[in-house]
Amino acid sequence: MTAKKILLVEDEKAIRDMIGFALRRAGFEILEAENCRLARTVIVDAQPDLAIVDWMLPDQSGLEFTRQLKRDQVTSALPVIMLTARAEESDKVAGLEGGADDYLTKPFSPRELIARINAVLRRAGSTPSSDVIDVEGLRLDQAGHRVLVGERTVPLGPTEYRMLEFFMTHPERVYTREQLLDRVWGGNVYVEERTVDVHIRRLRKALEEFGYDRLVQTVRGAGYRFSSRAD
Ligand code: CA
Repeated sequence: MTAKKILLVEDEKAIRDMIGFALRRAGFEILEAENCRLARTVIVDAQPDLAIVDWMLPDQSGLEFTRQLKRDQVTSALPVIMLTARAEESDKVAGLEGGADDYLTKPFSPRELIARINAVLRRAGSTPSSDVIDVEGLRLDQAGHRVLVGERTVPLGPTEYRMLEFFMTHPERVYTREQLLDRVWGGNVYVEERTVDVHIRRLRKALEEFGYDRLVQTVRGAGYRFSSRAD
């Protein structure tokens, strides 16, 4: 079994080190982000199995960040454990209402955190995933991380898969290259906008063989749209 990937979103390095050390020892793979913007990139690029999100973060509150993750179809299934320094009951309620799957108050023991992580992962794993999105026979199987037509898997590179996954979960809307970079690449500033066009071409080529390239539409002067309606 491969190690579960845990993303740790916390700006205090000492706490990241402490938690990271304990979790690595417990057999988890640890990814770290010191703010929400970086966390978003890691979530898109590395697809962690769970995120531990501190309440107090420099660019956005952890609560707000968790809410956004849970609202977005692409990230809504990612289990989140929130951390806070405040032991108030109202914070706990807010955290859970914000979509966190569990909640832990600092200081806590690594052992307690590991127990919570395992419980949340068990719950997440037992949820039957029936999230197959079907657009005219083109099927996105998010649990299986693949796209199918009939019994055949559409051969896609990792970026093309993420792009198609994003399109199929956000259809009938125009996205600029910049928005696609942000959503598919996670706002990685080192990627140029024309890279989007390269991957769009590859995606269309992969879909062409199955007759679905027409779904990825160019909207002149604006960007791209995934639509089953005629251009
Ligand atoms: Ca913090």
